[in-house]
Amino acid sequence: MEELYDILIIGAGPAGLTAGLYGSRSNLKTIILEKGIVGGQLNNTEAIEDYIGFEHIKGPELSTLMENHARKFGVEIRTGVEVKSVRRVEDAYEVKTDGGETYHATTVIATAGGTASKIGVPGEEEFNGRGVSYCAVCDGAFFNGLVITVVGGGDAAVEEANYLTRFGSKVYVVHRREEFRAQKILQDQLFRNPKIEVIWNTVVEEIKGEREVDSVVLRNLKTDERWEHATQGVFIFIGFKPNTYFLDDHPRHDDSGHLITNERMETGIPGLYAAGDLRSQLVRQITNAVGDATVAALAAEKYITHLHHIKATGGA
Ligand code: NAP
Repeated sequence: MEELYDILIIGAGPAGLTAGLYGSRSNLKTIILEKGIVGGQLNNTEAIEDYIGFEHIKGPELSTLMENHARKFGVEIRTGVEVKSVRRVEDAYEVKTDGGETYHATTVIATAGGTASKIGVPGEEEFNGRGVSYCAVCDGAFFNGLVITVVGGGDAAVEEANYLTRFGSKVYVVHRREEFRAQKILQDQLFRNPKIEVIWNTVVEEIKGEREVDSVVLRNLKTDERWEHATQGVFIFIGFKPNTYFLDDHPRHDDSGHLITNERMETGIPGLYAAGDLRSQLVRQITNAVGDATVAALAAEKYITHLHHIKATGGA
Protein backbone atom coordinates (compact mmCIF):
# COMPACT_ATOMS: atom_id res chain seq x y z
CA MET A 1 0.00 0.00 0.00
CA GLU A 2 1.40 3.40 -1.01
CA GLU A 3 2.02 5.92 1.72
CA LEU A 4 -0.96 8.20 2.27
CA TYR A 5 -0.34 11.62 3.78
CA ASP A 6 -3.13 13.36 5.62
CA ILE A 7 -2.02 16.79 4.44
CA LEU A 8 0.26 17.62 1.54
CA ILE A 9 1.29 21.27 1.37
CA ILE A 10 2.67 22.88 -1.78
CA GLY A 11 5.16 25.65 -0.99
CA ALA A 12 7.33 26.31 2.07
CA GLY A 13 6.84 30.04 2.55
CA PRO A 14 5.25 31.44 5.71
CA ALA A 15 1.83 29.99 4.76
CA GLY A 16 3.21 26.53 3.96
CA LEU A 17 5.31 26.36 7.13
CA THR A 18 2.36 27.48 9.24
CA ALA A 19 0.08 24.87 7.68
CA GLY A 20 2.87 22.34 8.30
CA LEU A 21 3.07 23.33 11.95
CA TYR A 22 -0.67 23.05 12.53
CA GLY A 23 -0.99 19.81 10.56
CA SER A 24 1.84 17.99 12.31
CA ARG A 25 0.88 19.41 15.70
CA SER A 26 -2.56 17.85 15.18
CA ASN A 27 -0.76 14.50 14.80
CA LEU A 28 -1.56 14.35 11.11
CA LYS A 29 0.94 12.92 8.66
CA THR A 30 2.00 16.15 6.99
CA ILE A 31 4.47 16.89 4.21
CA ILE A 32 5.58 20.10 2.49
CA LEU A 33 6.92 20.03 -1.07
CA GLU A 34 8.91 23.12 -2.09
CA LYS A 35 10.37 23.69 -5.54
CA GLY A 36 13.12 26.02 -4.30
CA ILE A 37 14.39 26.53 -0.79
CA VAL A 38 12.40 26.97 2.42
CA GLY A 39 11.16 30.52 3.02
CA GLY A 40 9.69 31.55 -0.33
CA GLN A 41 9.64 35.31 -0.76
CA LEU A 42 11.17 35.78 2.70
CA ASN A 43 14.48 34.89 1.08
CA ASN A 44 14.29 38.02 -1.09
CA THR A 45 13.25 40.31 1.73
CA GLU A 46 16.03 42.32 3.28
CA ALA A 47 14.15 43.53 6.34
CA ILE A 48 10.72 43.00 7.85
CA GLU A 49 9.33 45.39 10.42
CA ASP A 50 5.59 44.71 10.23
CA TYR A 51 5.39 41.14 11.52
CA ILE A 52 4.06 41.51 15.03
CA GLY A 53 6.55 40.59 17.74
CA PHE A 54 9.55 41.20 15.50
CA GLU A 55 10.40 44.88 15.33
CA HIS A 56 13.09 44.28 12.75
CA ILE A 57 14.17 40.96 11.31
CA LYS A 58 15.83 39.84 8.10
CA GLY A 59 13.61 37.70 5.84
CA PRO A 60 15.90 34.63 5.78
CA GLU A 61 16.23 34.79 9.59
CA LEU A 62 12.45 34.74 10.04
CA SER A 63 12.28 31.88 7.55
CA THR A 64 14.75 29.79 9.60
CA LEU A 65 12.80 30.48 12.81
CA MET A 66 9.55 29.43 11.12
CA GLU A 67 11.12 26.29 9.64
CA ASN A 68 12.63 25.19 12.96
CA HIS A 69 9.33 25.80 14.70
CA ALA A 70 7.35 23.77 12.14
CA ARG A 71 9.90 20.92 12.19
CA LYS A 72 9.64 20.70 15.97
CA PHE A 73 6.20 19.11 15.52
CA GLY A 74 7.45 16.59 12.97
CA VAL A 75 6.43 18.00 9.59
CA GLU A 76 8.37 16.47 6.70
CA ILE A 77 9.83 19.04 4.29
CA ARG A 78 11.25 18.21 0.86
CA THR A 79 12.95 21.01 -1.09
CA GLY A 80 13.96 21.12 -4.74
CA VAL A 81 10.76 19.24 -5.58
CA GLU A 82 8.42 20.97 -8.00
CA VAL A 83 4.80 19.85 -8.06
CA LYS A 84 3.64 19.39 -11.64
CA SER A 85 0.11 18.10 -11.17
CA VAL A 86 -2.54 17.71 -8.49
CA ARG A 87 -5.40 15.41 -9.42
CA ARG A 88 -8.32 14.25 -7.35
CA VAL A 89 -8.67 10.46 -7.46
CA GLU A 90 -11.68 9.08 -5.57
CA ASP A 91 -11.53 10.72 -2.13
CA ALA A 92 -7.81 11.55 -2.14
CA TYR A 93 -5.21 13.41 -4.22
CA GLU A 94 -2.47 12.18 -6.51
CA VAL A 95 0.39 14.67 -6.66
CA LYS A 96 3.12 14.29 -9.29
CA THR A 97 6.47 16.04 -9.22
CA ASP A 98 9.14 17.07 -11.74
CA GLY A 99 11.31 14.17 -10.54
CA GLY A 100 8.61 11.67 -11.59
CA GLU A 101 7.51 10.86 -8.04
CA THR A 102 3.88 10.42 -7.05
CA TYR A 103 2.55 11.34 -3.61
CA HIS A 104 -0.88 10.52 -2.24
CA ALA A 105 -2.73 12.66 0.27
CA THR A 106 -6.22 13.03 1.66
CA THR A 107 -5.99 16.82 1.53
CA VAL A 108 -3.84 19.34 -0.32
CA ILE A 109 -3.13 22.90 0.81
CA ALA A 110 -1.82 25.09 -2.01
CA THR A 111 0.46 27.79 -0.59
CA ALA A 112 2.73 28.21 -3.61
CA GLY A 113 2.48 32.01 -3.65
CA GLY A 114 3.03 33.87 -6.84
CA THR A 115 5.57 35.76 -8.79
CA ALA A 116 5.65 39.49 -9.35
CA SER A 117 6.33 40.21 -13.01
CA LYS A 118 9.75 41.66 -13.68
CA ILE A 119 10.65 44.38 -16.18
CA GLY A 120 13.82 42.47 -16.99
CA VAL A 121 16.35 45.31 -17.14
CA PRO A 122 19.95 45.48 -15.88
CA GLY A 123 20.08 46.20 -12.14
CA GLU A 124 16.57 44.92 -11.37
CA GLU A 125 17.74 41.65 -9.86
CA GLU A 126 20.97 43.08 -8.42
CA PHE A 127 19.11 45.77 -6.44
CA ASN A 128 16.11 43.66 -5.42
CA GLY A 129 15.68 44.41 -1.70
CA ARG A 130 18.18 47.31 -1.93
CA GLY A 131 15.96 49.88 -3.59
CA VAL A 132 13.91 47.68 -5.91
CA SER A 133 10.66 46.40 -4.44
CA TYR A 134 7.47 44.71 -5.55
CA CYS A 135 5.50 45.44 -2.36
CA ALA A 136 4.62 48.93 -1.13
CA VAL A 137 3.17 47.88 2.23
CA CYS A 138 6.26 45.75 2.95
CA ASP A 139 8.91 48.28 1.96
CA GLY A 140 7.37 51.77 1.65
CA ALA A 141 8.44 52.84 5.15
CA PHE A 142 12.11 52.30 4.25
CA PHE A 143 11.85 55.23 1.82
CA ASN A 144 10.79 57.97 4.20
CA GLY A 145 11.69 61.37 2.75
CA LEU A 146 13.26 59.84 -0.37
CA VAL A 147 12.36 59.96 -4.06
CA ILE A 148 10.31 56.97 -5.21
CA THR A 149 9.65 55.82 -8.75
CA VAL A 150 6.70 53.52 -9.47
CA VAL A 151 6.57 51.49 -12.69
CA GLY A 152 3.22 50.42 -14.22
CA GLY A 153 -0.21 51.75 -15.01
CA GLY A 154 -2.69 49.20 -13.65
CA ASP A 155 -4.67 49.22 -10.40
CA ALA A 156 -1.69 48.07 -8.36
CA ALA A 157 0.71 50.75 -9.66
CA VAL A 158 -1.77 53.60 -9.31
CA GLU A 159 -3.08 52.52 -5.90
CA GLU A 160 0.39 51.90 -4.51
CA ALA A 161 1.74 55.20 -5.92
CA ASN A 162 -0.96 56.94 -3.87
CA TYR A 163 0.00 54.91 -0.80
CA LEU A 164 3.71 55.58 -1.25
CA THR A 165 3.22 59.37 -1.04
CA ARG A 166 2.95 58.82 2.74
CA PHE A 167 6.66 58.14 2.68
CA GLY A 168 8.29 59.55 -0.43
CA SER A 169 9.24 63.21 -0.70
CA LYS A 170 8.10 62.80 -4.32
CA VAL A 171 6.60 59.85 -6.21
CA TYR A 172 7.10 59.53 -9.97
CA VAL A 173 4.97 57.08 -11.94
CA VAL A 174 6.63 55.80 -15.10
CA HIS A 175 4.14 54.30 -17.55
CA ARG A 176 4.77 52.97 -21.04
CA ARG A 177 1.57 54.45 -22.55
CA GLU A 178 -0.28 57.74 -22.37
CA GLU A 179 -3.18 56.49 -20.28
CA PHE A 180 -3.60 54.26 -17.27
CA ARG A 181 -5.62 51.06 -17.31
CA ALA A 182 -6.35 51.51 -13.59
CA GLN A 183 -9.90 52.17 -12.32
CA LYS A 184 -11.00 55.78 -12.70
CA ILE A 185 -11.44 56.33 -8.96
CA LEU A 186 -7.81 55.36 -8.32
CA GLN A 187 -6.64 57.57 -11.19
CA ASP A 188 -8.62 60.52 -9.80
CA GLN A 189 -6.88 60.12 -6.45
CA LEU A 190 -3.53 60.00 -8.19
CA PHE A 191 -4.11 63.10 -10.34
CA ARG A 192 -5.25 65.03 -7.25
CA ASN A 193 -2.14 64.09 -5.30
CA PRO A 194 0.38 66.97 -5.43
CA LYS A 195 3.28 64.68 -4.55
CA ILE A 196 2.83 62.56 -7.69
CA GLU A 197 4.21 63.27 -11.13
CA VAL A 198 3.47 60.97 -14.07
CA ILE A 199 6.07 60.31 -16.75
CA TRP A 200 4.09 59.03 -19.78
CA ASN A 201 5.22 56.92 -22.74
CA THR A 202 8.35 55.96 -20.89
CA VAL A 203 10.13 52.79 -19.81
CA VAL A 204 12.92 52.03 -17.38
CA GLU A 205 15.97 50.75 -19.24
CA GLU A 206 18.39 50.32 -16.35
CA ILE A 207 18.50 50.57 -12.56
CA LYS A 208 21.78 51.98 -11.24
CA GLY A 209 23.54 52.54 -7.95
CA GLU A 210 26.48 51.63 -5.74
CA ARG A 211 25.25 49.53 -2.81
CA GLU A 212 21.70 50.79 -3.17
CA VAL A 213 19.71 52.33 -5.99
CA ASP A 214 20.48 55.95 -6.78
CA SER A 215 19.02 56.37 -10.27
CA VAL A 216 17.19 54.80 -13.21
CA VAL A 217 17.77 55.31 -16.90
CA LEU A 218 14.49 56.24 -18.59
CA ARG A 219 13.61 56.23 -22.28
CA ASN A 220 10.70 58.03 -23.87
CA LEU A 221 9.20 55.61 -26.39
CA LYS A 222 7.86 58.40 -28.61
CA THR A 223 10.93 60.64 -28.83
CA ASP A 224 13.57 58.02 -28.02
CA GLU A 225 15.07 60.50 -25.56
CA ARG A 226 17.09 58.88 -22.75
CA TRP A 227 17.95 60.44 -19.42
CA GLU A 228 19.10 59.54 -15.93
CA HIS A 229 16.44 60.06 -13.28
CA ALA A 230 17.59 60.28 -9.64
CA THR A 231 15.58 58.02 -7.29
CA GLN A 232 16.23 55.84 -4.27
CA GLY A 233 13.21 53.55 -4.53
CA VAL A 234 11.90 51.69 -7.59
CA PHE A 235 8.55 50.01 -7.00
CA ILE A 236 7.52 47.72 -9.85
CA PHE A 237 3.83 46.84 -10.31
CA ILE A 238 3.38 45.37 -13.75
CA GLY A 239 1.39 42.28 -12.75
CA PHE A 240 1.52 39.34 -10.32
CA LYS A 241 1.02 35.74 -11.39
CA PRO A 242 -0.27 33.28 -8.79
CA ASN A 243 1.36 29.84 -8.95
CA THR A 244 -1.62 27.60 -9.59
CA TYR A 245 -0.43 25.95 -12.81
CA PHE A 246 -0.16 22.52 -11.17
CA LEU A 247 -3.88 22.20 -10.38
CA ASP A 248 -5.54 19.81 -12.84
CA ASP A 249 -9.02 20.67 -11.67
CA HIS A 250 -10.05 24.26 -12.16
CA PRO A 251 -11.03 25.83 -8.88
CA ARG A 252 -12.86 29.15 -8.92
CA HIS A 253 -10.56 32.11 -9.41
CA ASP A 254 -10.74 35.86 -9.95
CA ASP A 255 -9.77 37.76 -13.12
CA SER A 256 -6.09 37.68 -12.24
CA GLY A 257 -6.09 33.93 -11.53
CA HIS A 258 -6.05 34.06 -7.72
CA LEU A 259 -8.05 31.22 -6.13
CA ILE A 260 -11.36 32.10 -4.52
CA THR A 261 -12.02 30.38 -1.20
CA ASN A 262 -14.65 30.54 1.49
CA GLU A 263 -13.83 31.48 5.09
CA ARG A 264 -12.48 27.94 5.71
CA MET A 265 -9.99 28.37 2.84
CA GLU A 266 -11.88 25.72 0.88
CA THR A 267 -11.55 26.10 -2.89
CA GLY A 268 -14.83 24.37 -3.70
CA ILE A 269 -13.05 21.13 -4.58
CA PRO A 270 -13.32 18.78 -1.57
CA GLY A 271 -10.06 18.49 0.37
CA LEU A 272 -8.30 21.22 -1.63
CA TYR A 273 -7.44 24.39 0.28
CA ALA A 274 -5.61 27.60 -0.66
CA ALA A 275 -3.69 29.97 1.61
CA GLY A 276 -1.43 32.98 1.19
CA ASP A 277 -0.52 34.97 -1.89
CA LEU A 278 -2.24 32.71 -4.42
CA ARG A 279 -5.59 33.32 -2.75
CA SER A 280 -7.87 36.14 -3.92
CA GLN A 281 -7.83 38.76 -1.16
CA LEU A 282 -7.26 42.41 -0.39
CA VAL A 283 -3.66 42.29 0.85
CA ARG A 284 -0.72 39.92 0.53
CA GLN A 285 1.20 40.10 3.79
CA ILE A 286 2.99 37.51 5.94
CA THR A 287 0.42 38.07 8.68
CA ASN A 288 -2.59 37.15 6.60
CA ALA A 289 -0.73 34.32 4.82
CA VAL A 290 -0.08 32.64 8.18
CA GLY A 291 -3.67 33.37 9.22
CA ASP A 292 -5.04 31.74 6.06
CA ALA A 293 -2.76 28.75 6.58
CA THR A 294 -3.90 28.27 10.17
CA VAL A 295 -7.51 28.14 9.04
CA ALA A 296 -6.70 25.86 6.08
CA ALA A 297 -4.80 23.30 8.20
CA LEU A 298 -7.44 23.19 10.93
CA ALA A 299 -10.24 22.97 8.36
CA ALA A 300 -8.34 20.10 6.69
CA GLU A 301 -8.07 18.38 10.07
CA LYS A 302 -11.86 18.59 10.52
CA TYR A 303 -12.44 17.34 6.98
CA ILE A 304 -10.16 14.32 7.58
CA THR A 305 -11.89 13.52 10.90
CA HIS A 306 -15.24 13.70 9.13
CA LEU A 307 -14.04 11.37 6.32
CA HIS A 308 -12.74 8.84 8.89
CA HIS A 309 -16.07 8.99 10.67
CA ILE A 310 -17.98 8.32 7.45
CA LYS A 311 -15.68 5.40 6.60
CA ALA A 312 -15.95 3.93 10.10
CA THR A 313 -19.72 4.19 10.30
CA GLY A 314 -20.53 3.66 6.64
CA GLY A 315 -22.04 7.14 6.58
CA ALA A 316 -24.45 6.53 9.45
P1 NAP B 1 -2.33 44.83 -14.58
O1 NAP B 1 -3.72 45.32 -14.41
O2 NAP B 1 -2.07 43.70 -15.51
O3 NAP B 1 -1.48 46.09 -15.05
C1 NAP B 1 -0.14 45.95 -15.38
C2 NAP B 1 0.41 47.30 -15.79
O4 NAP B 1 1.80 47.18 -16.01
C3 NAP B 1 -0.23 47.84 -17.06
O5 NAP B 1 -0.40 49.23 -16.97
C4 NAP B 1 0.82 47.51 -18.13
O6 NAP B 1 0.88 48.46 -19.15
C5 NAP B 1 2.11 47.60 -17.34
N1 NAP B 1 3.13 46.69 -17.85
C6 NAP B 1 3.02 45.38 -18.12
N2 NAP B 1 4.17 44.88 -18.53
C7 NAP B 1 5.05 45.91 -18.53
C8 NAP B 1 6.42 46.04 -18.87
N3 NAP B 1 7.14 44.98 -19.25
N4 NAP B 1 7.01 47.25 -18.76
C9 NAP B 1 6.30 48.33 -18.34
N5 NAP B 1 5.00 48.28 -18.00
C10 NAP B 1 4.39 47.08 -18.11
O7 NAP B 1 -1.65 44.40 -13.19
P2 NAP B 1 -1.91 44.90 -11.69
O8 NAP B 1 -2.01 46.36 -11.63
O9 NAP B 1 -0.88 44.21 -10.86
O10 NAP B 1 -3.33 44.29 -11.32
C11 NAP B 1 -3.52 42.87 -11.40
C12 NAP B 1 -4.97 42.55 -11.07
O11 NAP B 1 -5.23 42.88 -9.69
C13 NAP B 1 -5.96 43.36 -11.89
O12 NAP B 1 -7.07 42.56 -12.17
C14 NAP B 1 -6.34 44.48 -10.98
O13 NAP B 1 -7.62 45.01 -11.26
C15 NAP B 1 -6.30 43.80 -9.60
N6 NAP B 1 -6.00 44.81 -8.57
C16 NAP B 1 -7.06 45.50 -8.07
C17 NAP B 1 -6.84 46.47 -7.12
C18 NAP B 1 -8.02 47.23 -6.56
O14 NAP B 1 -9.14 46.94 -6.99
N7 NAP B 1 -7.84 48.19 -5.69
C19 NAP B 1 -5.54 46.78 -6.67
C20 NAP B 1 -4.48 46.06 -7.23
C21 NAP B 1 -4.73 45.10 -8.19
P3 NAP B 1 -0.28 48.57 -20.27
O15 NAP B 1 -1.42 49.25 -19.59
O16 NAP B 1 0.36 49.38 -21.34
O17 NAP B 1 -0.56 47.16 -20.70
